[in-house]
Amino acid sequence: MPRPPVYDTVMFPSQTIDSRFYYHPCDQYRLSTLVDILSTGVRVLGGRARLFPRISDHPHPRILLKPNLLKGASWERAVNTHPLLLEAVIRLFLDLPGVSFTIADSPGIGNCRSAARVAGYRYLTDKYPVVIRNISDHRRMGDLFPSSENSIFRNLPVWSYITGYDFIINLAKLKTHGQLGMTLCVKNLFGLVPGTLKAAQHFHCGTDHQRFSRMLIDLCLAVSPSFHIIDAVLSMEGNGPGSGTPRQTGFVAMGRDPFAVDLGVSRMTGFRIPDLPVLKTAREMGYPFSRVRGLHPEDKSVSIRNFQPARPRALMRLTGLIPPWLNKTLRHILTDKPVIRHDRCNRCLLCVRHCAAGAMSLSADSLHPRVLIQHKKCIKCYCCQELCPRGAIRIRPGILSVLSR
Ligand code: SF4
Ligand code: SF4
Repeated sequence: MPRPPVYDTVMFPSQTIDSRFYYHPCDQYRLSTLVDILSTGVRVLGGRARLFPRISDHPHPRILLKPNLLKGASWERAVNTHPLLLEAVIRLFLDLPGVSFTIADSPGIGNCRSAARVAGYRYLTDKYPVVIRNISDHRRMGDLFPSSENSIFRNLPVWSYITGYDFIINLAKLKTHGQLGMTLCVKNLFGLVPGTLKAAQHFHCGTDHQRFSRMLIDLCLAVSPSFHIIDAVLSMEGNGPGSGTPRQTGFVAMGRDPFAVDLGVSRMTGFRIPDLPVLKTAREMGYPFSRVRGLHPEDKSVSIRNFQPARPRALMRLTGLIPPWLNKTLRHILTDKPVIRHDRCNRCLLCVRHCAAGAMSLSADSLHPRVLIQHKKCIKCYCCQELCPRGAIRIRPGILSVLSR
């Protein structure tokens, strides 16, 4: 028997705005090209005045740019949103008197400033009215949600300084993701939850990917950025989102409605709604996917062939069907699990410190210390695989995965 939805009705952006998204081919990172693409996208989707209401009336508009800044890594590794895409966005608003920009994120490794330096963002602070801030304060914002009746995470700890910005622009990166299939616009906003509290949210949701997706959707609806952009020029496939393989996908997508952009981009890369817990949960919550419409300058479709997922697509569909009450041992046998590649591990213990379930530890063997995982405690959040700087954690297929091939 299908599980009943855990919510009643939710007001999605598509019910108040149109759910069109714009996408444009882009073979390489060149500032002038990116500025042209963004300018066209903003115009086609309604124009700056409509997408950013009264922005010209603001005496000093403050704009928050939320990139995907997972860790300090150069752009060739396709881990982070490319700095030129941020610069192109900044150029769109530079004519506004007194405008200022903040680039902020809560990287999985290190802080935002050090990650931004390695990712090549620092020049932006010299060239433009830009500051880089680390999302690290722990004050709670329990009243952010537009409808507390429909939200199941009323006390989600969002970065409290967010209310100081007039407009938020979400700049996601197209990457695969062990737990959620892909990280796109909706998932990218999880970086607005300060550092260690992200692990607490994972633990709170446990092995229930649908619940975690619901939390992400609540967060997205609460924060409600003005605009969403996906950097899919150089993307990441395979063991993403931290250690996958860069893949030239060659386009940029954008829109006001994050669910529409996510749907469009996931389709272009061969994913379907059942493959992606966030979109699947949104559909169960009543999101009208039939209204989504993609706009392209020449009305061409983009199709990326053989885009490699982090886990088999068929398995991602099956995982959501395993009820949370199923015996832990059985779940352990059936589902994919993280395993350490000891030949690559340098025992930095980053994974141990970030494991929300306390399932990781260093063995007591002082001669041959090893990082260990207690699989019965593991909640399959795959944060360890996401964070490991050496790609020393892989996801080993469980029985479901093997059968689904
Ligand atoms: S598995 Fe990766 S993150 Fe964990 S200790 Fe080894 S190198 Fe560090
Ligand atoms: S071992 Fe890895 S996947 Fe399991 S709970 Fe810890 S961080 Fe998450």
